Amino acid sequence: MSNLDLFGSNMYKEVIKQYDEVTDFINLDSNIRERLKLPQRALTVTFPFRRDEYDEVETVIGYRVQHVLSMGPTKGGIRYASNVNLGEVTALAILMSWKSAIVGLPYGGAKGGVAIDPTPLSKQEKQRVTRRYTAELLPVIGVDKDIPGPDLGTDEQTMAWIMDTYSNFVGSPQPGIVTGKPASLGGSITRREATGRGVVAIANAALDKLNLKYENSTVVIQGFGNVGRYAALDSYERGAKVIAVNDLGGAIYNKNGINIPELFKHIAKNKSVKDFNGADNFDDEILEIECDILIPAAVGGVIKSNNADNIKAKIIVEGANSPTTLSADKILRDNGVLLIPDILANAGGVTASYFEWVQNTQNYLWKEKELHERLIDVLTSAFEEVWIISEKNKVDLRTAALIKGIKKVAAAKLTRGLFP
Ligand code: GLU
Repeated sequence: MSNLDLFGSNMYKEVIKQYDEVTDFINLDSNIRERLKLPQRALTVTFPFRRDEYDEVETVIGYRVQHVLSMGPTKGGIRYASNVNLGEVTALAILMSWKSAIVGLPYGGAKGGVAIDPTPLSKQEKQRVTRRYTAELLPVIGVDKDIPGPDLGTDEQTMAWIMDTYSNFVGSPQPGIVTGKPASLGGSITRREATGRGVVAIANAALDKLNLKYENSTVVIQGFGNVGRYAALDSYERGAKVIAVNDLGGAIYNKNGINIPELFKHIAKNKSVKDFNGADNFDDEILEIECDILIPAAVGGVIKSNNADNIKAKIIVEGANSPTTLSADKILRDNGVLLIPDILANAGGVTASYFEWVQNTQNYLWKEKELHERLIDVLTSAFEEVWIISEKNKVDLRTAALIKGIKKVAAAKLTRGLFP
């Protein structure tokens, strides 16, 4: 078995294949090239978990993977999903390294995950899983070591429990141990909306390049979690028509545009976008609706070789991590669809996390307006740089973004030299 097989999962294989293509292209130093395929640390933990209504105890598996420790602490979210595995978490940690480097944050990439479906869990059950998982991570996390944040299936409350558990073990309040916390614990409201609003800011920058206007666009959003809902709200506020959205409960469509603030009220009562009276329920595949901007903001691997040809969007902005497979990427490119990759498009989340962490560690507070402006500035500058790399090298935006991220991480590793 090769070293790489240890982290085998489809997502890991895809991330490495893509990495191989890009590192061939830039002719990366061969030692560094192999080194960066493997994470520096990968912790697997197992712990007992009891559901509210049962006496039996189940064993749950969790992970925390830290890819590169050369540039500063590691940073990345924690996801709860039944299909979480070591390979997927490793792939996502690697993507976090490139993402942070692309927007210029002083972090290496990390990711964590617990292999459990969070949807049927009661609040108490989720709290027990979170606290025990955090306790198992104590040896590897820390305000200046590795800082978790939210991802699929985790939210502000989850981050608050992590902060509380960690602080109890350390013996003093440690708000900087996680980002994406509730405002009452030093979290920033900018972080809550940052990924979705960042996606829209980047889409807007891309439309500019094509001489198109966001306010004249039609938008389709797959997934209405933290990323999808704020991308929808920002699109609506800019005057664009959000014509279709979906979530686990169903999909809705209105060719004249959905009133997003009204939809928020509907969701607060009904838990799903389905049956909203300002749109029709929609049974077909929303990814295939004709539109200007398609934002996949749900899970990975949804645009693949068997549906990529049916996509009729002009621009795809990846709100989720890895929503497009490599083979679909090529089909979309051949079909002239402009794709803005996850490592650039959804970098608003980790950027706002960085601001929150800086505020926590320095006990310094910026105004929300200032944070928002900084966020947009970081994202649009990164987009501009990636766009220039793409034009100069005549490559697509994913390749250009990877060139930027990989070169930066490789330079940091080479400059630090070898120990011992
Ligand atoms: N889950 C976020 C991402 O994939 C990052 C979480 C964080 O803010 O650390 O970019």
